[in-house]
Amino acid sequence: MEIQELLCEAAAGQTSGVLGVSVVPVLEYPHIILRQKAKKVRRMDRSIDRLADDLSDTLVSASGVGLAANQIGVLRRVIAIQLPEDEEPTVYINPEIIHREGQREVQEGCLSFPGLYGNITRSLWVKVKGMDRKSKLFRLRAEGLLAQAFEHEIDHLNGILFVDHVKSHEDLYRHEPGEEHEEGYEDVPEESSEMATA
Ligand SMILES: [Zn+2]
Repeated sequence: MEIQELLCEAAAGQTSGVLGVSVVPVLEYPHIILRQKAKKVRRMDRSIDRLADDLSDTLVSASGVGLAANQIGVLRRVIAIQLPEDEEPTVYINPEIIHREGQREVQEGCLSFPGLYGNITRSLWVKVKGMDRKSKLFRLRAEGLLAQAFEHEIDHLNGILFVDHVKSHEDLYRHEPGEEHEEGYEDVPEESSEMATA
């Protein structure tokens, strides 16, 4: 609890300063918080509202697909997801996968592992339940990139990282923007819709 509050304060102290926008630093592996399990939100209050704003603004600023509260140092079960076609991120509170079906190979990255990507297996589709920012309960069926994002972000809430799903070192590779690939590194398609940094 103490470390969490401390991190919150640290993060709050580094907001971008732009009125109404709260971009906070994204914690990178191997930060210990990324391996901890987030706690359920019991009721919506100002701190959760603030967390939702921080997640949304930071996700937009980082141009990612998803962001979990652990990644900004808060151990609460809150995530934000924004698909390329979405105008703004959607915040999900206490999201839980209640069913998953099928398998597909995807390329995946994570904002807590800059430049690192992996080939892993995710579900074809998932059923998710949880709560929105207005405390309204929801159930939805997600497929493709949205299903992948839910699996990735809910993993974060449980202290699980995408690298845990990589079966061998050959399925893990680096790709820095604008950097020439070293011999033996796999090429990542520039416009791959399968590639998600979350
Ligand atoms: Zn991630």
